Amino acid sequence: MKRMAEPFKIKMVEPLRMISREEREKALIASGYNLFSLKSDDVYIDLLTDSGTGAMSDQQWAGMMLGDEAYAGSRNFIHLREAVRDIIGYPFVIPTHQGRGAEQVLFPLIIKSGQHVISNWHFDTTRAHVDFSGGKAIDVVTKEAFDTTTPYPFKGNFDLGKLERTILEKGPDNVGMIIITITNNSAGGQPVSMENIREVSRIAKKYRIFTVIDAARFAENAYFIKRREAGYENHLIINIIREMFSYADALTMSAKKDALVNIGGMIAFCDNQAELFELAQSMVVPFEGFPTYGGLAGRDMEALARGLYEGIDEHYLEYRIHQVEYLGARLREGGVPIQFPTGGHAVFVDARKMLPHIPSSQFPAQVLANELYLETGVRSVEIGSLLMGRDAKTGEQLASPLELLRLTIPRRVYTYNHMDVIADGLIVVKNRASRLKGLTFDYEPKVLRHFTARLKPV
Ligand SMILES: *Cc1c(COP(=O)(O)O)cnc(C)c1O
Repeated sequence: MKRMAEPFKIKMVEPLRMISREEREKALIASGYNLFSLKSDDVYIDLLTDSGTGAMSDQQWAGMMLGDEAYAGSRNFIHLREAVRDIIGYPFVIPTHQGRGAEQVLFPLIIKSGQHVISNWHFDTTRAHVDFSGGKAIDVVTKEAFDTTTPYPFKGNFDLGKLERTILEKGPDNVGMIIITITNNSAGGQPVSMENIREVSRIAKKYRIFTVIDAARFAENAYFIKRREAGYENHLIINIIREMFSYADALTMSAKKDALVNIGGMIAFCDNQAELFELAQSMVVPFEGFPTYGGLAGRDMEALARGLYEGIDEHYLEYRIHQVEYLGARLREGGVPIQFPTGGHAVFVDARKMLPHIPSSQFPAQVLANELYLETGVRSVEIGSLLMGRDAKTGEQLASPLELLRLTIPRRVYTYNHMDVIADGLIVVKNRASRLKGLTFDYEPKVLRHFTARLKPV
């Protein structure tokens, strides 16, 4: 696959520490074979997440100097509100410190205790806030999401039949909310089609169920619709975005992804939700801050208002998606099994296919992550049985349906040369895969074990 030139030039650089293999070996042992415990200084290329790790532009940095740090009515808030009205079409905007802040404020206002919440796939913090609000989260993603090799353009879609059956089975009054996650983060950044969003909205209206878009990667989703959905080839990205949001009542957004800032988020409501907006405005005060800053500095809101426009620029989106696709193509050429087609923000390597001799209980994707780090200093992240944890009742180690290694690409940070380093490293690792050994626990924390666990080779 041909490379594409970046639609920006570089005016400030952050030197990377070039660490030797001996240093990496020491760092890996000291981390307990857990890359979450590495110092970022011990990492050459950091692919842990695309959240808050992007590079801001000169325009955004210039905006940082124009922060109006008034407690109430900051002009940066007004810029942010104008940007959301223009791009998304929702008039009522409340900033929050990040996506989970938005979930924390909005969900308890909508979900009644004991109600079900249905999504294509709840992101982990989203699921946690559904739980905290007394709700029960149900995922109804299309079955194509679980097949990593067969091409399908919209693996993030809802299974519409399952959605309607679930509503009827639980009873419409027992369904508090539908959450449309675009793109579908947990399914690998896979997009949701416009047709699917429209149908979800039709079903939601039929049963009078409140619909929220979890909008972290809304711009990448719009770009995939333009590229892959018949009838949208000639639409402007901004018009695709407005149409997507016209099918929901509200949004929660982590601005740390497509909105190109290091911190920030928001809640916004469509024009017939004025009452709920007022309620949310009073709820945001004790949790996040006054409704015109919601936990953000004025300068952060200015960077966000500008980032929203930069994140929907078609040349930027073409480069962004192309870079991820390029890494995927290099890996496929090298015989590394990946989820295909690649999604918006990451390439997922199928570690079970690459290390068939290592059972789930010995965490094959973590073995792969550690070996890639030793080989090239790349930090990736395990999405498999280590992350999944044990059965809450029996304490039994569960085997995740997929053992994946996620290579998450930060926005505007790394070049195509870095993509080559990552691909070359993984291809070398693939060639010695059969000699790699599994991992077992040295120390296993009770909750969220993957962050702080210590492991050792078996
Ligand atoms: C990141 C993310 C969130 C949570 O946002 P934070 O800014 O990390 O709090 C919610 N939903 C999705 C789909 C996300 O990717």
